[in-house]
Order: sequence, then structure tokens, then C-alpha cells
Amino acid sequence: MNVASWASTIRSKWETVFPRCREADCGSRKMWTRLYWRRAGIHLENSWYCSPQCFEHAVRRSLTCTQSALPSKTQPVRHRIPLGLLMLSRGQLTNRQLRMALDAQRTSGTGRIGHWLEQLGFATEQQITAALGVQWACPVFPISTARDNCEGLLPLPLLEAFRMLPVQFVPATRLLYVAFCESIEYTALYAIEQMLRCRTEACLVGDSAMTDALGLLAESRRPADILFDGCRDAAEMARITCGYALKLGASEVRIACCGEFIWARLECSREPANLLFHRRDTAPQGDTLHLTGCRGSSRPVAS
Ligand SMILES: [Zn+2]
Repeated sequence: MNVASWASTIRSKWETVFPRCREADCGSRKMWTRLYWRRAGIHLENSWYCSPQCFEHAVRRSLTCTQSALPSKTQPVRHRIPLGLLMLSRGQLTNRQLRMALDAQRTSGTGRIGHWLEQLGFATEQQITAALGVQWACPVFPISTARDNCEGLLPLPLLEAFRMLPVQFVPATRLLYVAFCESIEYTALYAIEQMLRCRTEACLVGDSAMTDALGLLAESRRPADILFDGCRDAAEMARITCGYALKLGASEVRIACCGEFIWARLECSREPANLLFHRRDTAPQGDTLHLTGCRGSSRPVAS
């Protein structure tokens, strides 16, 4: 071991024992102060903050940055090959059937083309799921083999909003398989990777299997998943996050943007808690707070 790496190791151990608060205006620069506050501090991502005041300031800055990353409006995803055309080219549909399904979708003004193909009896759910797998270049996951080691990994309001489901977690490689039934939401996968510090792989399941699975999860909602409908300003969200972090004794907090949500994950001694802030301009007037509820879906209606 050379002198440089020896010094780096000593510095790293010193920082572990006497962590330095990352808040620029903090008063705990002296060692005895750092030692005093050491037990009470909270990590935000990889940075340590000595007191609730320092932590709240840091959370506010992080939320301001995250808020600016929120999309101004959810845009429908355009695929290179629309699902109807893909099934037509595979000989699973006739021109007439596709036209009828498109007409039904246009008349109703809602629903995906796959929904109307199934409603009109032109394709089965299995065929539509398989075609989606080709469209997104993703495997179809047999939901019956889903493992229960994913329970509580992700907050239910997010699962409902994106219609997604964690189906298998491989601890050895920290790989999480996340199933979707309509479209793959890559922004959600990226946020999950940040929050759980894992890798993700997307897969597809049938629409009815997804509905059943989400229904079962809704019956056993976790009190640790809390949704705030209407995205407040960064100062208010920081105050709420800091309050929950102190109340639950969180040792670390991570923050990420996930679609139209800002997601704060609190690592606590018993189980993690999730705070979800939904942007204000899509929330109904007058509503301020809903515990463990999800209001509607932020999914785009795409063909
Ligand atoms: Zn501090």
C-alpha cells in the first residue's frame, strides 16, 4: 500500500467516524460538534447532514432540482411500428378487423388499440401481450412464477399509475424484473434503479393478470406509502420530508423524479417508507393530502 492510498483509507475511516456535514453554512465544523451530532444525522443520497435544519436545506435544494426535471406534459410514446400494423404484418389480423378496431377507438375517444381488438373478439389477450413483447423487444413474463420477494419493494401509487409490477428480485446481482402490461416506462425504471440501487429489466404481463395483481396489493396497502396529491413548492415538500424522516427515524433519504411524481424514499430501521408528491396541475381542486391513495393514472393514451 503506497502513501496516497494509505492516506485515502485513513481519510475515509475518519469521515465514517466523524462525518462532515455537507451543508455549506453548517456550524458543526469542529470535531467535538461533529462527534455530538454524529448519532442524529441523516444521509441524503451519499451526503451526511448533521441536524434537521441542515438536512431540510439540502432536501429543499434537491427537490428544486428534481422539480425542474418534471415533464411539462406527458406525451404519448410513438412506436416505430404501431401495434395494429405489427399484428397485421404477422397475419393475426385482417385489414377490415384493424379498421373496425381503429374506428371503435376513435368513436369512443379512449382505450388502446389492443383493448378494442380484444373487445371486438379479433385477438386474445395472450396474442396482444405477445405482440407488445415484439413491439417493445421484451420477454413476456409468466406471472404464475412471480416471486413474493418483491412485496413492498415499490409504493403502490406508483405501481397503479404506471400499471407496473415488480415480479422477481435477484439479490445476488441486485437485478429487479419489472413487468408492464401496456408500455414500458423507462423513466420509472430509471427512478427505481436510483432508489433501490439495483438494475432493472423490463418484461410484459397480460392486462388481466396486472389488474388482478394490483387489486390484491390494494387490499393490503402499506401504511408506509404516503401520497400527497398536488405538488407543493420545494420548501413545503422539504418540510414534509424532513418531518417524516425525523418521525420515522430515517437514516437515509433518496429523492427522484418518476413521471409526474417526486418520490422520496426513507430508509428506516424497520421498513422503508415512501413519500410521493403528485404535481399540482393534474390534481383536483381543493385536495391537499390523501394517505395511501392513488388518484387516477398519468398514463398517456397511445395507440
Ligand atoms: Zn450541519
